[in-house]
This record gives sequence, C-alpha cells and structure tokens, in this order.
Amino acid sequence: MKLNINFPTQIISGENCIQKNTAKIAALGAKKAFIVTGRSGAKKSGALDDVTSALSSLGIGYTVFDEIAENPPLLVSHKAGRMCAEEGCDLVIGIGGGSALDASKAVAVFAANDIKPMEGFEADKCKAALPIIAVPTTAGTGSEANPYAVMTLPEGDQKKTLKFPFTYPVLAFVDPKYTYSLGYEYTVSTALDAFAHAIESYLSPNSTLLSESFALFAAKSIFEVLNKKGTDFSKEEREALAYASCAAGAAISVTGTGFPHPLGYSLTLLKGIPHGKACAVFESDYIELNYKTEQGSIKLDKFLSELGTTASYLGSLLYELADVNISLSEEEIKQFVDLIKVAGNYKNSPYVLSDEEKYAIYNKLFAKKQ
Ligand code: ZN
Repeated sequence: MKLNINFPTQIISGENCIQKNTAKIAALGAKKAFIVTGRSGAKKSGALDDVTSALSSLGIGYTVFDEIAENPPLLVSHKAGRMCAEEGCDLVIGIGGGSALDASKAVAVFAANDIKPMEGFEADKCKAALPIIAVPTTAGTGSEANPYAVMTLPEGDQKKTLKFPFTYPVLAFVDPKYTYSLGYEYTVSTALDAFAHAIESYLSPNSTLLSESFALFAAKSIFEVLNKKGTDFSKEEREALAYASCAAGAAISVTGTGFPHPLGYSLTLLKGIPHGKACAVFESDYIELNYKTEQGSIKLDKFLSELGTTASYLGSLLYELADVNISLSEEEIKQFVDLIKVAGNYKNSPYVLSDEEKYAIYNKLFAKKQ
C-alpha cells in the first residue's frame, strides 16, 4: 500500500471564500478571464456575481461564455476555447456543476493549443492549458479537485475523458452557499455521483492511503445525509455534501472511477437519466461482484463497517434513491453495451467486468418485460 498523492489544486472553502481570498486570484497575474458557465446555475446561485465583482475589484477584465449544456459537447468546448484565445484571455474560470467545470478544462486546453476538437484527447497535440479556477455550484462532480473533463463526442452518444497534468484547476473555491437553493431531486442525484466517486475510488486497485481516507470521509458524510431519507437538506447537510463531493473528486484524481460510470453514460446520453442516478443504479451490482474477489471483500468489509451498514442495505438504498424507471428493448441493450465497450474503467476495480456481464446487468435491470 502506498501513500502517494500529487495534488496541485489549492482548495479554498467556506462561506464567502471568494470575497475573502481575492488576493489568490490577483496572484495569478491574469489580465483577462474567460468565464465558462451554463445558462442559469452560475447566475442563480450568486457565484457569477461573486466572481465578476472580485475580478472588477482587481481590475481584471472578463468575457462570459454561458452556452455550456448538460453533458458538455466537445464541439462547444472547442468553439469556446478558440474564442477565449481570440479574445486574448489568459485565465479560464469555470462556474457551475460538473458540465461547466469539465468544459472549462477543455476550453483552457483549446485556448492554449490551436488544434482540432478530437486532438484535445492527444497528449502529443496538447502541450499546455491556460490556468483554471473552478467554482462548483453543485455538490457531486468534484471536478474542481481533479484534472478530468468528460466530453460528449460529436455523434452525441458517447463520452470521452480529456485529462492532462495541466488540467487540474490551480484554485478551487468551494462555497456551500451556492448549493443552498438547489432542488431536492437534483441534490440527491449529485450526491449519488459523489458517493459513486467515493466507493469506486476506494475499491480501485490504484488507491493509496490518502485517496482512501478522502474516499471514506466523503462516503461517510454522504451516507449519513442520504440515509436520513428526508425531504429537504439543512445548510449543515449541504455543507457536508459540498465538502464530501470535493474530497471524492480529489480521491478519483488518484484512482479514476469504476464500471458504474461507463455503464451509466449510455443511460444519460440516450435516455436522459441524470449522471449521478445513472451511476448509482449499478452500485448494487458493483458491490456484489467486487465481493467475489479477495481484495474487493477486504476493502468492502472495511468500507461498510466504517459506514456502519451492510452491502445489501447500501445497495438497496442507492438503487432506491437512483429511482431509474426505464425499460429497454434487446436491440437497445446491445447498442448501449457496444457504445461503452471502449471505456478503460473496467480494469479499475478488483472485479473486472466482461462484455457478457455488461449485457447481463443491463438485461436484469432494464429488459422490457414480455
Ligand atoms: Zn461521476
């Protein structure tokens, strides 16, 4: 077991952490920022106002690009990246949920390298990125604490991850107040994503002592909040979720995620199931299969005893909260499994899932009853 961690992001957290730390932004020495957001979250949460006020007080100019949709398309990130370069911006600020934060990393790459969209995944074509500041307004993705940018490919039915050592944000401002007004269902779905990151990171063969402690801290906080099965969340609970999400994001920066992630991608892109729920629906099978291996059962025993629960209770809680009610034809199941074959996540857990098992899991969960 190793202790290894390489963590180049400075995380600053707490209420009004942007206003209290404008000097950190000034220290980057930027002249003009390119702000990457979705249509509404950054504005509604108050985060966009906090960022633009901070920039104005520092005399830093900015442009706002607010066209980032859910499951950010590679082509939109590429367009934004080229705009960012043309506008002479030297800093990218992502504000929003996972989509805006992931897109901001791709934008920083496309701004620094005049390349075609698909070349954004190639190490020999991408030499650098503009510095990135991440301001999460949801508690789930943890994107502020890792280098991953999950992009939807031009055909619209597959996701691919862009990641480089230089796509870690340099600064992350985690202010839980931006999540206070999020709806119940949305909060559950994003918390499920963070929980998926925590458990998939904990079980990964690449985990280290530090990534495991981040993952456990995150999993315990989220389990405690979700297990209450309330109808809303208190400020304290939302703060716990925001910090847990960030810690789980840092944990996967060391390990990557496991197979519930790619299995969920098809549900999201082709059936519109939100990412967190689309991953959570597979966690019960993930736990069950990993229990069949020696490493998996050792790790799961420790993980479950820290949470004070059992595999079957946790599996059904996650399944229940995911609440995915779709049915798929045999044709669709074949198509879904084909689309996710290329992902690298299958080797990233003690139990390595075969193509037949991917098919069997989809079939068990979603096959149309005759
Ligand atoms: Zn995720």
